[in-house]
Amino acid sequence: MNIILLGPPGAGKGTQSAGLVQRHGMKQLSTGDMLRAAVKAQTPVGLEAKAVMDRGELVSDAIVSSLIDENLAAMPAEQGAIFDGYPRTAAQARDLDSILAKNGRKLDHVIELGVDEDALVKRITGRFSCANCGALYHDTASPPQVEGVCDACGGVEFKRRPDDNEETVRTRMQEYRAKTAPILPGYEERGLVSRIDGMGAIEEVSEAIDSILS
Ligand code: AMP
Repeated sequence: MNIILLGPPGAGKGTQSAGLVQRHGMKQLSTGDMLRAAVKAQTPVGLEAKAVMDRGELVSDAIVSSLIDENLAAMPAEQGAIFDGYPRTAAQARDLDSILAKNGRKLDHVIELGVDEDALVKRITGRFSCANCGALYHDTASPPQVEGVCDACGGVEFKRRPDDNEETVRTRMQEYRAKTAPILPGYEERGLVSRIDGMGAIEEVSEAIDSILS
């Protein structure tokens, strides 16, 4: 099973991918996570991508497609892939088709998480994660059970993404509207798109995704 999770920043793609990994043993291929790792490691790709990401703009198609290409080639053929935050442009959608074909895979579903933009800004600017294990939290919606202590690993250090501020979030949303939303009609013509209300509780959204996959 190969699926794309599409939706504006903060729609819940990362949270839902993590759930799919746990429930179905799929692998999450998040170009955002790969790029953040490259920035942290100060690789040539990371150095090139950092300023673009900080502005909330899109990194070049060639860079993200080659990250996906490398990561997919390293996966066992029988393991399902969740494309999280990729493709984000028409060129990336074409690249993905050829990368999948090269690996003997095909696209099964494109799941679009629909959300209200103002609610998204609140959602994004409140989110943070455990610096040790990466568990995801939110200031008001899902804080740790004990303030300042990670539920998953007991870590006491947390971090916020530098691009999770209101100005950058608005740019990221414009990028989504201008460059990513237009790839949906092509997938619709292929009968691959399902739309889900991403504003529901995490469990409700997970159930809706599972019913599409079953
Ligand atoms: P994300 O974690 O998916 O919200 O991505 C964070 C940032 O990484 C985005 O705002 C872009 O700057 C960059 N990025 C991630 N995935 C892509 C992609 N598929 N194409 C271009 N830029 C990307």
